[in-house]
Amino acid sequence: MTRPHFDRILLKLSGEVLMGKGEFGIDPDMVGRMAQEIADAKNAGHELCIVVGGGNIFRGIAGAAKGFDRASADYMGMLATVMNALALQNALEKIGVDTRVQSAIPMASVCEPYIRRRAVRHMEKGRIVIFAAGTGNPYFTTDTAAALRAAEMGCNALFKGTSVDGVYSADPKTDPDATRYDSVTFGDVLSNNLKVMDAAAVALCRDNNIPIVVFNIREQGNMADVLGGEGTATIVKNKE
Ligand code: UDP
Repeated sequence: MTRPHFDRILLKLSGEVLMGKGEFGIDPDMVGRMAQEIADAKNAGHELCIVVGGGNIFRGIAGAAKGFDRASADYMGMLATVMNALALQNALEKIGVDTRVQSAIPMASVCEPYIRRRAVRHMEKGRIVIFAAGTGNPYFTTDTAAALRAAEMGCNALFKGTSVDGVYSADPKTDPDATRYDSVTFGDVLSNNLKVMDAAAVALCRDNNIPIVVFNIREQGNMADVLGGEGTATIVKNKE
């Protein structure tokens, strides 16, 4: 199935992708590979911005389960996303891609604060903007941050890179009858509780008519195909 070509996109990169085959932290080889794929997408003519997660380092819910105060644990999670953003920026600049990191939690000596108009200007100048620290608020996720930034930046689509090649009717790892959708509506995702992004992120994309494209980012070269409207992926969108 051929999907539409989107010019300005937001890529959501989960922290787990950056840990490669490891079980924790940042794998420099994997970060380098992601940087190359992002550079290829830029060279193919896409305007890109990125939201990075932090699950490879710290998740607020897991911290709260161990006894940390939930809001403090979430701030720790947001700080983890800044580490990932700096690692990705480093890898991109090593291969000559101009980038800016903007953090929703201001930290002036490390990166720029999030300023929407400034981020738009960076993109117009061909820079890749990496958004760090999620929404800057506890009790949210970087999926919601991705939906929010996609709307603010006027992106035509949100690309969610995961370890599976789309959205399934059930978990393909445990249910042999699970089938993959080429296309599914936001309404079906929410009412059937399909695993795409959290409900707040899905609802924000639905209300702002921003399609979500779910694809396997671990498969080498797949991102370029999917961004070009080909390859295997699921598109989540409003009913036509
Ligand atoms: N987080 C938050 N507010 C946000 C975004 C993230 O509090 O707007 C915290 C939350 O604790 C979360 C952690 O940052 O668990 C890391 O983000 P996330 O779990 O979304 O990362 P991913 O799963 O994409 O690696």
